[in-house]
Amino acid sequence: MIYRNLGRSGLQISALSFGAWVTFGKQIGDPVAKKLLHTAYDAGINFFDNAEVYAAGQAEIVMGAILKKSGWRRSSYLVSSKAYFGCEDEKPNQTGLSRKHLFEACHAALTRLQVDYLDLFYCHRPDPTTPILETCRAMHDLIAQGKVLYWGTSEWSAVQLQEAFRLCAAHNLHAPITEQPQYSLFHRTRVEKEYAPIFRDHGLGTTIWSPLASGLLTGKYNAGIPKDSRLSAPGMEWLRDMVLNDPKTPAKLATVPKFAALAEELGTTLPRLGVAWCLKNPHVSTVILGASRPEQLTENLGALDLIEKLTPAFMKRLDAISKPVAD
Ligand code: NDP
Repeated sequence: MIYRNLGRSGLQISALSFGAWVTFGKQIGDPVAKKLLHTAYDAGINFFDNAEVYAAGQAEIVMGAILKKSGWRRSSYLVSSKAYFGCEDEKPNQTGLSRKHLFEACHAALTRLQVDYLDLFYCHRPDPTTPILETCRAMHDLIAQGKVLYWGTSEWSAVQLQEAFRLCAAHNLHAPITEQPQYSLFHRTRVEKEYAPIFRDHGLGTTIWSPLASGLLTGKYNAGIPKDSRLSAPGMEWLRDMVLNDPKTPAKLATVPKFAALAEELGTTLPRLGVAWCLKNPHVSTVILGASRPEQLTENLGALDLIEKLTPAFMKRLDAISKPVAD
């Protein structure tokens, strides 16, 4: 495993990490979840990503139970939660980034995950109804109380991030150390263009989500939707509709065999290529892997061996296929 500093913090995060979205508490049984988390940890992965909204809190309950029984030293792994979407219903104050919801979401995550503190606590989306200063101060206070060690954002715009940094500096508050953006061969603009000034000015880290575009970049959707895949999973109809209704999807799927041919040239597989490509970006601190089966995780972990093989000339060939279809 390779470890990188998360942004300008002293925190060492494994270049590959592992997340619970869709799978834990929902698509897979608890024994599979256990096997996945242990496979990840045994491979040197030290960051496990979670959120209040994943399976309405159940993903954190499943992960917490596995962590508790694992016998792993608390100092040997990082665990996150994210607040914004809420986890059960959508009454006022049970969602968003107000001080009230951030405090309550943090306490609830600590209980579900059975830990004394969260290594990372994210604002899962921006909340236009809450002043950014209120959110920054609440995150700062959770850190001061020892309930959270570092905080981050997910899918905030560069403008919102600049404002958060300005306010934290002006009020002497702990600033975010990381963003959690979507990034893949199919989704590039925000990380590569919009965030460029943020990386330059603040050295923000990134914990990347959906590196394989929910599986599109494995080739599994090129001949329709397999029965046992994410896009056919119960409760994921919204994602299936979003993917199927995206006017760019046919063009994206048409590139998949081209990427696969390049992977074959390197003697590797398409999922490994997709993950390794993300890791080549120097602003990527860690790529969060998702998997519904241990074999997928084992395969994707092989991306680490590929980084050196992705020469500038090879990256240009990937760019030529990716750039015309990427968001
Ligand atoms: P990916 O885009 O890598 O998709 C993972 C899914 O693709 C797997 O669950 C599996 O689905 C399929 N897959 C993965 N590898 C293979 C393989 N080798 N062969 C065949 N199929 C494969 O990542 P995720 O979308 O899961 O995102 C990773 C993590 O990022 C999440 O767990 C979560 O922690 C975080 N995240 C954060 C978000 C945010 O808003 N901050 C949003 C989304 C995710 P299946 O077998 O079911 O087809």
